[in-house]
Amino acid sequence: MLAFATHDVRIIAEKREKPPVEGWACWELTGTALLECSCGHTDGPMVTRLAPLMARLHISAHA
Ligand SMILES: [Zn+2]
Repeated sequence: MLAFATHDVRIIAEKREKPPVEGWACWELTGTALLECSCGHTDGPMVTRLAPLMARLHISAHA
């Protein structure tokens, strides 16, 4: 058994609903993302490109 919560960070790209086209729901990426860690930590929204870096920082800061 692990004594500490593991940090399994998920990066969730935010999406925005666009007007339907011919009856189909449309989504586009907003360019921002949220972080959600298995330890309960959340962060963001942030620029999607920064999300992997922030995820690594979170893990290393709490390792
Ligand atoms: Zn964590």
